Amino acid sequence: EAKHAGRNRAASFNWSLKERFNRLHEIETGLRRALEGEELTLLYQPIVDLATGHIDACEALIRWHHPVLGAIPPSEFIPIAESMGMIEGITQWVLREACLAAATWPSDVRIAINISPASLKSNELPGSVIAALLESGLPARRLELEVTESIFLDDSGQTNAVLRELQRIGLRLALDDFGTGYSSLAYLRSYRFDTLKIDQSFMAGVSANAEDRAIVRAIGNLARDLAMDTVAEGIETRDQLAHAKEAGFTNVQGYLFSRPVGLDRIGELIAAGPLEGAERPDPVPTLR
Ligand code: C2E
Ligand code: MG
Ligand code: MG
Ligand code: MG
Repeated sequence: EAKHAGRNRAASFNWSLKERFNRLHEIETGLRRALEGEELTLLYQPIVDLATGHIDACEALIRWHHPVLGAIPPSEFIPIAESMGMIEGITQWVLREACLAAATWPSDVRIAINISPASLKSNELPGSVIAALLESGLPARRLELEVTESIFLDDSGQTNAVLRELQRIGLRLALDDFGTGYSSLAYLRSYRFDTLKIDQSFMAGVSANAEDRAIVRAIGNLARDLAMDTVAEGIETRDQLAHAKEAGFTNVQGYLFSRPVGLDRIGELIAAGPLEGAERPDPVPTLR
């Protein structure tokens, strides 16, 4: 019996390795095709001003629908694209697509784009940004690039040079997923980040954990004193919203307001005006 189970375990282990290998292979070959075809899309999620309910910005979130494997999440294929040296092409595609979209929105709505650490190490990025701005006509101040703390693990000086160049062009910079990575407060001093986005895991815990509440409040205070905008991501409940307000966050983003949506829907949400309920306790501001 034990021997039998052991053989089955071994068999299923081998199978899953094989499956994983096949999936990786499908993703690698598929990525080249996806970039040229129609398989990639962008969704947009509103980032709401807590005081007014106004949509300050929308974050572009990439989606890949693979013809065989179906939806593949960015958390799976972005790291693969990085390891294949294909991230530059994806970043260029996202920049172009998102800037063209944002250029059709009212001039007080920004676009936020996620930039992988690998892209920041390449000196192609400022050129890609400028090309996207020129083609779309979008002013640099309406483009915000979201980077994570892990960019600071590269101490070659290249990342530093690219960040400075992006700031010189006039872009806004946001520090994404703050508090989970290589959190060094010295970086808040060296770079003038416009926006701090606290990692979702802290907001997920505020209702249950005093520790998460303390961290959220501390980050809120710090960012306010440094005159940065603060985004509380992953807001799903009214209770989380109340904690974000109490901690002095300027902006909120999450399913409570809207899931990431397609181009038509985001246009409707922006045109509909302030997402009420950021201030008003009722009704629940669900705009999915
Ligand atoms: P992120 O930049 O921190 O994006 C926030 C993630 O949280 C998104 O997941 C979003 O759909 C999700 N989210 C938003 N509101 C809620 C909520 O209320 N509850 C929960 N549970 N989740 C919420 P998504 O779209 O799967 O993206 C995951 C990560 O993939 C992003 O994290 C970002 O790091 C990366 N990513 C997405 N699009 C791109 C892209 O165009 N380029 C690059 N380089 N990375 C991207
Ligand atoms: Mg604002
Ligand atoms: Mg982000
Ligand atoms: Mg994040």
